Amino acid sequence: MSEPLEGLAARARETHVVVVGGGVAGLVAALELAKVGMRVTVLEAEQRPGGVLRTADVAGVTLDVGAESFATRGGHVRALVDELGLGDAVVAPNPAGAWVAGIPGVGAAPLPGGGILGIPANPWDPAVRRIIGVRGTWRAYLDRLRPPLTIGHDRSLGHLVRSRLGARVLDRLVAPVTSGVYSARPDDIDPDAAAPGLNAALARTGSLSGAVQVLRGDRTVAPGGAVAGLAGGMAGLVEALVAKLVALGAEIRPSARVVTLRRAGAPGWSLALAASDPDGEDEELAADAVVVATIEHEARRLLAPVVPGLSSDTPVAPELEVMTLVVDAPELDAAPRGTGVLTVPHAFAAKALTHSSAKWPWLAARLPGGVHVVRVSFGAQDERPATADLDDAAAGALALREASALLGVHLDPAQVRGVHRERFVQSQPAAVLGRAERVAAARAAIRTVPALGVTGAWLSGTGLAQVVPDAIAEAETVRRRVLFDAADTAG
Ligand SMILES: Cc1cc2nc3c(=O)[nH]c(=O)nc-3n(C[C@H](O)[C@H](O)[C@H](O)COP(=O)(O)OP(=O)(O)OC[C@H]3O[C@@H](n4cnc5c(N)ncnc54)[C@H](O)[C@@H]3O)c2cc1C
Repeated sequence: MSEPLEGLAARARETHVVVVGGGVAGLVAALELAKVGMRVTVLEAEQRPGGVLRTADVAGVTLDVGAESFATRGGHVRALVDELGLGDAVVAPNPAGAWVAGIPGVGAAPLPGGGILGIPANPWDPAVRRIIGVRGTWRAYLDRLRPPLTIGHDRSLGHLVRSRLGARVLDRLVAPVTSGVYSARPDDIDPDAAAPGLNAALARTGSLSGAVQVLRGDRTVAPGGAVAGLAGGMAGLVEALVAKLVALGAEIRPSARVVTLRRAGAPGWSLALAASDPDGEDEELAADAVVVATIEHEARRLLAPVVPGLSSDTPVAPELEVMTLVVDAPELDAAPRGTGVLTVPHAFAAKALTHSSAKWPWLAARLPGGVHVVRVSFGAQDERPATADLDDAAAGALALREASALLGVHLDPAQVRGVHRERFVQSQPAAVLGRAERVAAARAAIRTVPALGVTGAWLSGTGLAQVVPDAIAEAETVRRRVLFDAADTAG
């Protein structure tokens, strides 16, 4: 029996897999492949791996300027963190929760706890009534009185909430959450994907707020309670992944942008890398198998010529800008808006604000007294970031004005110690309507091509809790196809 096993191990050692893209998806896939002894090369276009997990030095402090937490849902990210020996660094955010700002006639108020996607379990809860007013509360209460016959299986969260609970619940509670968390409008969110079981509970209980109550059980989790972070920042995850990959003999090549992918022999591949200096020559690299882990438009551009039936059309992805401010502002010590602020759509130029030093005690402990870190995000689906056409100075000034308005505290330019600007293209969240069908079609086309894997947020849905398990599963598929299918063919 040992001979076939030795044969597999030898085949693994002889297999060279190239992973295109060194974001979390690419690094996690690379780790799974390197673990079985395959020769792995990760090609990353930028100067540093990590993708959306980015850090910057702002006013002498190293800060996460992209992703800064992970959803604990499913336990996948936690399992990876533990595997990498970072379990002791896992921290919970301040449970104070976030606020909503831009509420007509009210201004800002804490986001009520106990809801799902902002849908309240009890419209009469004073925290809910403060936001939607007496009229909104009575309208939401109609949900309890509507005949069950009017209940159908709704595929749009926006339609579901509007018809059951009214426009105020939709605009003031649900839209701030979906636009802050998913960069998407409620009308474009599929409730079955965003809140599995909600439609079924609605049919059972006869009301949407009743369904939320049932799904939440008697847990009173503050909004944001289902995420965790790493002391020192999420970039620690990238460092640990890179260290483990290097220890396993994998090569990680920064500043290595793949420009084309083509078949070379069967089932081999040839990848062309852009020359790193303008006068240099493009480089060709051979691989037995390839895993593409880039953002969607780049993945489709590389794959369309080699995957029959894969469209190169990419849905418009929201462009985002995150402005990180380090400010000397003891008036923020009291965390006047909890861990951050979500906004009623169109009430502000900014989409959301995170008061990072209030959210993460480890970060506050690293800052001098009275110094705070605030992140202001701009841009959403169909809405270019308000900062997009501004130069850095003007974008920083706008971020400061928005931070003042959202935090309810006047912040003067003289209080600013440092500003950092970072641009992103956000993949669509898993819950966006129509995405599941598009992804299934892409995956089916990709599966027809041997020795090829594709992963990343555009397939798994955005968020580390989605990206990590998808990368593991895709690497497993590639491993199996390269090792066992080849063995079957040979045998
Ligand atoms: C501003 C922002 C904040 C976020 N915050 C959170 C959060 O707090 N928690 C959370 O769970 N999720 C968060 N997310 C989502 C999460 O960060 C992403 O879903 C996840 O990091 C995506 O990982 P990825 O590897 O699929 O893609 P990416 O991180 O985009 O990595 C793709 C990599 O491929 C490289 N690449 C592209 N083209 C090529 C090429 N031709 N050749 C070689 N390399 C190439 C890119 O340079 C990049 O490094 C956030 C997203 C954004 C935009």
